[in-house]
Amino acid sequence: MERTLSIIKPDGVEKNVIGEVIKRFETNGIKIAAMKMIHLSKSQAQGFYAVHKERPFFDSLTDFMTSGPIVVMVLEGDDVIAKNRKLMGATNFKEAEEGTIRKEYATDIEKNVVHGSDAPETAAFEIGYFFNALELHAR
Ligand code: GDP
Ligand code: MG
Repeated sequence: MERTLSIIKPDGVEKNVIGEVIKRFETNGIKIAAMKMIHLSKSQAQGFYAVHKERPFFDSLTDFMTSGPIVVMVLEGDDVIAKNRKLMGATNFKEAEEGTIRKEYATDIEKNVVHGSDAPETAAFEIGYFFNALELHAR
């Protein structure tokens, strides 16, 4: 059993595809262990994406992530970090496989609908960034 952090980014919420994204998790046997809708401040977005702070797109990315509400979820299941990344598709939707979330719904390389942790260490940091122990439910 493994956990990962998933975010439906402001563009996904704006496009009204929260249900479409969650449906993909459920139909693929992934369980939701925690979930909430929040609106990040700039400093909260900068803290979340701190690993990217030297990247040229950092300021644009953190502006985008504060542009509207997001849905943050903890997903649970066997190999869920990799499974979620597969369902998401490549960062650049133009390179994403057919049928992936980003291929279907992304606008551009930044507005790409979803975030997913990329490794156990980043998953642990990212889950702890948004959820405390009382908000996590064993599924
Ligand atoms: P991810 O793990 O697939 O989400 O990709 P990264 O960790 O590399 O990047 C984090 C997020 O930054 C991506 O999901 C995009 O929203 C954004 N991003 C990545 N590359 C670029 C880029 O070249 N330009 C811009 N504007 N945003 C980018
Ligand atoms: Mg990443």
